[in-house]
Formats: sequence, structure tokens, C-alpha cells
Amino acid sequence: MKRLGIPQYLDGRTGDKTLSKAVNRALLLHLLREKGACSRASLAKDSGLNKVTVSSQIAELIELGIVKEIGVGASELGRKPIMLEIAGEAGYALGLSISTTGLFVVAMDAAGKIDRSDFFPIEVHTPEAVIDAIVSVTRNAKRRYRQAKFGLFGIGIAVPGTIDQGTRRVVCSAKLGWEDVPFSEDLAKVFGGILHVGNDATLATIAEHELNAPEADDFVCLLIDEGIGSGAYINGAIHYGHNGQFGEVGHMTVVHDGLRCPCGNTGCWDLYGSELALRQALGTARGGKIPDAEELLTLAASPPDWSQEAFSNFVDYLISGIVSIMNAMAPSMLVINCAVLSASPAMFEAVKAGVASRALAHTHVCEIRLSSLGKTAPAIGAAMAAKDRFFEGLIVNET
Ligand SMILES: [Zn+2]
Repeated sequence: MKRLGIPQYLDGRTGDKTLSKAVNRALLLHLLREKGACSRASLAKDSGLNKVTVSSQIAELIELGIVKEIGVGASELGRKPIMLEIAGEAGYALGLSISTTGLFVVAMDAAGKIDRSDFFPIEVHTPEAVIDAIVSVTRNAKRRYRQAKFGLFGIGIAVPGTIDQGTRRVVCSAKLGWEDVPFSEDLAKVFGGILHVGNDATLATIAEHELNAPEADDFVCLLIDEGIGSGAYINGAIHYGHNGQFGEVGHMTVVHDGLRCPCGNTGCWDLYGSELALRQALGTARGGKIPDAEELLTLAASPPDWSQEAFSNFVDYLISGIVSIMNAMAPSMLVINCAVLSASPAMFEAVKAGVASRALAHTHVCEIRLSSLGKTAPAIGAAMAAKDRFFEGLIVNET
């Protein structure tokens, strides 16, 4: 469960006259964002603040344009309460996820509703080319949302690589071939608003947790596409690991003396359990063309005889890796974002059955689900991260 209390971004304000006001505002915005429509009386009850404080804070938030009244609600007794909610149309965040083929882009309003979702192919993925594409997409979005009170207030970017939590530099992205790229500094030069850069699996995990299981304190998300990445909530908080390097599960060794991985080791899970590995195995099995992502899903939905062994090995390697993760982390929920398993209910059931029979007993209480967000999960998480920073700004700068 999410914990209320003094959030990290208010650290250092102890003793500041505005601290209590900021904390009250943080509480009320948190409740409005989590609960959706609610009345002043229910906000007072849930926050523990008195009604006068709630009314004056809400008046300020309405004046600011971020909260609105939406009519009367039901009441058993007495006067019907006026309901409130976050004014979604007040502003928008853009979430972008970089892949080797293009940019997944979602635009999210301030209330968290996805306004639109697009894909922009890019042919070259050098940092310069990706920044050009992001600038062009951002410019269009700024224009589209210029009428909103806060316009396009921020962008979040999901990068398939390790991001240094302190400097926000891309330390390494094997997929994009980037090493030590000052990506956020370069982007900040052309974009003045809120800018969040994060690892794609971490951001996908934030989106899957928020939308599927906000109550799960110990939660793991696996992102399986060209490689395998993961993210986790531990004791209710997203985990980054030292220097943001948590989640590189694709480089767990699953085959002793196996294939050589670009990371320098051999036998990494990426080389056996990723969709890229599966596509290569299918190409070998039919002695010819490697299927593209689209054909892969057609084959997965109804595997022809020649492909059965490759799919069966893929399922076995997935089970091996997932069993290790379950034994190490003991999550209460595991969400798997994998287009192949989504295309084949039989394979997903085989993975679940294999994990249930091989993982240690305590992991049997873990629910395993498929992602409902698919390829856009990292972009959705990136937009959410930018939106969180926007609300922090309303609390820190406007109180
Ligand atoms: Zn490796």
C-alpha cells in the first residue's frame, strides 16, 4: 500500500513556515489523485485535516486550476456534497519510450487519462537522431495542448539502458549502442519543462504497478522483448539498486558455458529467453528467414510443427529464469510483459505451471499476470513520472 507522510521532495523544509501547508496540500492532492471524485467532507475524514483547512486548500487548488467541482454527489443524510476531482484538462505530460525501431509516445492528462498513443518509426538511433525525433514530437504536442492552463508541462523518456540516478546520464544502452551519453543535459537545452529520464523496465514497472496492483508491496515486472529487463517494488517502493543498475535479469547465467553475450559473459538469459533469441531460434529451425515481430506473433498463436521445439525451449528458459527471480525476491505479484505469451494463452499457462512446480513453496502465493499495457508500458510509466514531478512542483513551488 502507498504510504502517506512527508514525501522526499519536502525534505529539508522542516522548520519552514510553509511546510505544514505543503504537507496538507500533498495529502489532499494524493487523495484526489488516488481516489478520483470525492467531497470536501470525505477528504477531511481521510486526511485527518479539519474542514476549514480542507476548504481553504481546495479553494486555492481550484483557483490554481488543478482541481475542479463536478456537481453534487449522493448522500444518505442532509445536504448533497459537491464533488471534486483533478482537472485532467489542466495540462498534459508526454511519455516517450525509445526502441531500436522508433518512439512509442503517449500523451496523458493531469488526471492520468491517456489522451492519445502513437508510434513514430526512426531509422537511425544515435543520440542526436533520437533527440531530433523527440524534439519534433514534443513541439507538436506543445502546439496541440497550448490552450490548457499548464499546457504540455513535462516529458518523461524511457531508455533501454542504465541511467545514473545522480547525473541522469545514460551509462550504457547495449540495445542502442550508447555509452555514457549526457542525454538529459542535451535534451534540457531544447526543452525547458519537466524532464524525466529513466530506465524502460523501471518505468514499465511503475505503470504496471500503478494500474494493475497499487496495493502490492512486493511486486516484480518482467519486460521481455529484444532483451529481458525487470523492475521491482520492495516494501512498497520502487527499487533502483546502486547507481540505478537494478533489474538486469537478462544477464543472469542460465546456461553454463553457453553463447557469448555482448555483456562479456556467456550463457546469459537474454540469449535464450528473449523474443530476439526466440526469433533467431525459429529462423534456424526453418533453415531460413528470421521472422519479424509481426510474424512471430502469428507463429506463436498457432505454432506449426517445425517451430514446436523452438517455442518449447523458449518456454523452458523463461521458466528457469522466472523460478530464480521468484526464489530470490518472493513477490506477491509478478507481471510479465511479453507479446509472445500474450499471443499464446497455452504458452502462458505452460510458464505458470512450470514455475508453480519448480519454485519454492512460498512463491505459490504469488499471482502471475500478463501485462495489459503491452509495448506502451514504458511510455505510460514515463508520462506518470513526469506527472508526479508536476504535482511535486505544485506542492513545493505554489504553497
Ligand atoms: Zn549478458
